Amino acid sequence: MARARERLEADILIVGGGPAGLSAAIRLGQRARDSARSGGREPFIVLVEKGRYVGAHLRSGAVIDPRAFRELIPDFDRRAPLEQRVTEEAVLYLTPRRALRFPAWALPPELKNEGNYVVSLSKVARWMAEEAERLGVTILTETSVVEPIIEGGRLVGVRTGPKGLDRNGQPRANYDPGTDIYAPVTILAEGAHGTVARVVIRAFGLAGGRQPMIYSGAVKEVIELPRKDYPPGKIFTTLGYPARYGTFGGGFFYDMSGPYVAVGLVYSLDWTDPDLDLHEELQRWKLHPYVHRHLQGGRVVQYSACIIPEGGYYAIPRLYMPGGLLTGDSAGLVNVPRNKGIHLAVYSGMVAAEVAWDAWQAGDFSEERLAEYERRLRASWAWEELYRVRNFRQAFQDGFLLGLLRAGLYRWTGGRLFRDPLPIRVGHRLARHGSQAPRPPVRWDDALILDKRSDIARGAPKYDEQPSHLRIVDSGLCLECQRLYDSPCTKFCPGDVFRWEPSEARIVISHENCLHPKICEFACPYDNIRWSPPQGGDGPNYTLT
Ligand SMILES: Cc1cc2nc3c(=O)[nH]c(=O)nc-3n(C[C@H](O)[C@H](O)[C@H](O)COP(=O)(O)OP(=O)(O)OC[C@H]3O[C@@H](n4cnc5c(N)ncnc54)[C@H](O)[C@@H]3O)c2cc1C
Ligand code: SF4
Repeated sequence: MARARERLEADILIVGGGPAGLSAAIRLGQRARDSARSGGREPFIVLVEKGRYVGAHLRSGAVIDPRAFRELIPDFDRRAPLEQRVTEEAVLYLTPRRALRFPAWALPPELKNEGNYVVSLSKVARWMAEEAERLGVTILTETSVVEPIIEGGRLVGVRTGPKGLDRNGQPRANYDPGTDIYAPVTILAEGAHGTVARVVIRAFGLAGGRQPMIYSGAVKEVIELPRKDYPPGKIFTTLGYPARYGTFGGGFFYDMSGPYVAVGLVYSLDWTDPDLDLHEELQRWKLHPYVHRHLQGGRVVQYSACIIPEGGYYAIPRLYMPGGLLTGDSAGLVNVPRNKGIHLAVYSGMVAAEVAWDAWQAGDFSEERLAEYERRLRASWAWEELYRVRNFRQAFQDGFLLGLLRAGLYRWTGGRLFRDPLPIRVGHRLARHGSQAPRPPVRWDDALILDKRSDIARGAPKYDEQPSHLRIVDSGLCLECQRLYDSPCTKFCPGDVFRWEPSEARIVISHENCLHPKICEFACPYDNIRWSPPQGGDGPNYTLT
């Protein structure tokens, strides 16, 4: 007999075990502990995470601004697993052979990293999860949420996906249909373009009157070095090469502890070249003379990819709905010029938890009560920080140098000479395949400069047998796309998931390579790819990213 779906009732539910979800869990755990000490009730707080363990699917830079962490955990600096304090930093413009340093006086104070830390987000998250569990929060890993449960115009919980289906979707011996988890309030912290968040944003009209959310794609590696010929705690970020004019983005180098260093490349997902391969661009970036001399003798040990919301202030949706709150990247809370979202994720998770706690104490989960979350965020330093850079990304949409000029002028005049908000364009205007000058070839060396397949092996994705979690909506469109653009998905996907099979005239999907970046949902020129979370626990298994 087919097993029935289970039902679980929580008092407060959190979806996603990244910095936003974990800070919500910790704050709720702290409140519950204080309540228990004074003889009060203790709620059943549940956090669900799709990774095999907390941190398995997390990838970031990351240089963190510790402000929100200190508000959450007062002795954070002493106890957290930090890699390095930033000691030396530079912002550089790269030409193909040279590196031109922006003078320190030309950089606005908010772009400086004095007092910030380099961390591995995966490590910090594991530490935060231990903290939350110690405070009594129940963390369910290997649990993919596949859709919201909306009843009577309210978000009342989430549905987790089945396990134990074969390739064709038929139940195997270990079949588990999944669970419906109900709660009077759900904190959504699934990261960028969340599976539940995107549905509720539409269902509750949360993005009405806002600018559209846009994204960048990022690839990142952790590299092991035989020795470090630079001061500990050095970081640098680069603009220019290998990006071409018109591409918004750049590279980063962050010194970690021990033999490790984190490097990455971030490009806006509106590039025009259908042949662009972000993974290959990262290899080119590492071969730049300035970058390469920091990586001599290095060996890539982990590889990851992700999207980053970059719509900014004017694209942030309404943050509350009946029964739910949006936090972190799910709400687009990223400071684009700083390339930082972790402190905003932590802060929003913490405030969401405080509002959810008060609602639970009062037994009042009305929309008006939950609206307090957005009111408090709007009155906070986090909102002010986002407001200050509200038109930054928009300034760059007509090319990089013009963008630099506009952003500089904008800052200097406080935006008085400009429209506010500046308009933003969404989507791709791809050039025909072959119409752009070819990029210089990359020579692999099997250690530092890796071909995509070898790099993916460093991401260590693992999938049990199951139906593909990636789907092409209309394979007919791929025929036209192949003719005009030579199937960009076969290049832009950092996981090498898509392959054009000429004998069948179709795209073949190898979903077991997928690193969960969701770049495909934005980079396909025909909006023809759908990504959904695979079976809980499947995907990459990061430890250092
Ligand atoms: C390459 C790169 C470099 C970056 N550098 C920096 C930096 O230097 N400093 C900085 O501050 N920020 C940086 N950021 C941004 C920062 O990483 C994010 O803003 C931050 O991680 C957002 O936190 P979050 O908790 O909202 O989401 P996430 O960190 O994405 O966490 C979401 C969690 O939810 C889980 N999840 C998602 N969907 C589901 C589901 N359906 N079911 C169950 N679980 C689910 C995921 O597995 C994940 O664990 C960088 C991002 C990238 C990609
Ligand atoms: S999936 Fe998208 S990018 Fe790939 S061939 Fe089809 S239409 Fe083109």
